[in-house]
This record gives sequence, structure tokens and C-alpha cells, in this order.
Amino acid sequence: MAVFSRCSTAATAAAKPTAAATFSYLIRALSPSFFSSSSTLDPETDLNRNKPAALGALKREPKGRNVQWVFLGCPGVGKGTYASRLSNLLGVPHIATGDLVRDELASSGSLSSQLKEIVNQGKLVSDEIIIDLLSKRLEMGEAKGESGFILDGFPRTVRQAEILEGVTDIDLVINLKLREEALLAKCLGRRICSECGGNYNVASIDIKADNGRPGMYMAPLPPPPQCASKLITRPDDTEEVVKQRLRIYQAMTRPVEDFYRSRGKLLEFDLPGGIPESWSKLLRALNLEDHDDKQSAAA
Ligand code: ADP
Repeated sequence: MAVFSRCSTAATAAAKPTAAATFSYLIRALSPSFFSSSSTLDPETDLNRNKPAALGALKREPKGRNVQWVFLGCPGVGKGTYASRLSNLLGVPHIATGDLVRDELASSGSLSSQLKEIVNQGKLVSDEIIIDLLSKRLEMGEAKGESGFILDGFPRTVRQAEILEGVTDIDLVINLKLREEALLAKCLGRRICSECGGNYNVASIDIKADNGRPGMYMAPLPPPPQCASKLITRPDDTEEVVKQRLRIYQAMTRPVEDFYRSRGKLLEFDLPGGIPESWSKLLRALNLEDHDDKQSAAA
């Protein structure tokens, strides 16, 4: 992930294409077969099934290309953690639009100060800016021979989902869910290594059983010794801003779940706890149990 982050900074420093070129690039890069292929799923047949039909053909899609997956889920749910593990396992890039935005913020580019205000208030960046950043990231990946992707943080509005749907086939959308009590604590406990970009968490979440609901324990995710002295907190991980991001998720992103549900592409996954409890269950839900032996490589 850090490699992509560093490279996208370089890519965003390049000359800006026009909006039209950006969108035409997005169409070209996301879907070489855009004009000739139809969705891998039939919304009518796949609607209301427990698992999306795409799960039958996960590891490599029928057209011989790599998977094109999306991760949905509230701030703090762990999209980045699981998307990054799956990306290692399946050999496809993990593209997090939040990382692209943070790279842009860290640069001295003209967008930087405009973005800072938006992001630090927990608001969404405009569709045009986010698609511009994503297009450049995809263009850079294409030049390096990448294929397939696991998107994390995009699409976040129904309009973004419609644009994406118009340019490529998304095979599967994994909707990660975690008990609400844990989300804020997980965001507040998040720490990032300023050098390698690794994500860690100092929160120890211990929700007691209550009213017939089981308890839940999520252990902290400590950094390795080489990162311990380099940890930083994201400026938008304050209590006030996280609450605002959660509100915006409900208003703007929750409808994206319905968008994919109605197309038979949504896989709901309730996280039972931290990584030790969740990872193997997620692999099972994705019909990737035979990748179990590679789990340690993905960790
Ligand atoms: P979160 O932990 O809230 O899921 P991210 O790291 O995905 O955060 O994103 C950080 C910020 O970047 C968001 O609050 C938003 O300002 C911006 N951002 C990321 N992805 C998008 C998107 N698809 N559309 C609009 N804004 C985005």
C-alpha cells in the first residue's frame, strides 16, 4: 500500500489532464471491454440470494482478468486492514481513495489547502476531484502492468457508484459491519507509521454481553518495534470529526449498499471481533479457504 501511496504522489504531481481526458481515461483504464461486455451478474436472478453469484468464480474472473472488488463500511470498521490483506493474498492492488487524498494533502500541490479544510471537517471531497485522483492512480498502475483492484473508500456516493458501474464490471462488493460501539473507539485508537504507512491500533475494545447480545473483544494491534517511535494520528480521527464522518456515511454512503444489493453484488460481512476472529471467517465467506496456507503471507 505504501508503494502505491508514494507512487501516486508522483503521479499527482504530473501535468493535469482535462476533466474530459480524466473521465475518458477512467473509462479506458477501468474497463478495456466496456463497450463489449455485460455485467458478470444478472441482477434479477441474483437478487435476494445469501451470497452474490460472483463468489462462485472468485479467484480469477471468467474473462481471465483479476478480481475487481469494492470494500464498503463505516469509518473505523477495518476496510483498509482487510482490503490490504486480501490484496496481498490475491495479488491485486489495494487502492484506497483516502490514501490518495492524504498523499495529495501531503504534497504542495494546488489542491492541498482546499482538500485539508474538507477532510479535516469530515466532509466528502467532490466527485470530480476524487475521480481525478483515482484516474491518475489507475493510469500509473496500468503503466506498471497492474490488473484488477480492490477499491477501499470508493464509491462513497450513489453518483460515484453509477459512474463506476458505467465504466467497468465490479464483481463483488464486501460490506464490512461492526458494532457501532466499537467504531468510534477504533478510529480514536488508530495510529499510522509516518514512514511505512502501516496501520495500527492502540484501542482495546471490550464490549460486555448485554440484553442477549454476546460480548466482543478486540485486542490492540501494536506496531512492530521499527514503527513504534514513528506513529502519528490522522488529523480527522478526533471525536468530533469521526462522529461527523459517521453521520456522512449514513447519509451519503448507506444508499450505496442498496445500489449494489439491488444488483446482487453485495456480500454482507459482520465482523465477529478483531483480526484473529475475523480473517479466517472472511476467507470462508469469500470461498477463499484454500488460500488459508497463504494467510501468514498476507498478514
Ligand atoms: P474513513 O476512515 O472515513 O473511511 P478514508 O481514509 O477512506 O476515511 O477517507 C478520508 C477522507 O478522504 C474522507 O473523509 C473524505 O474527505 C475523503 N474521501 C476518501 N474517499 C472519498 C470518496 N470516494 N469521495 C469523497 N471523499 C472521499
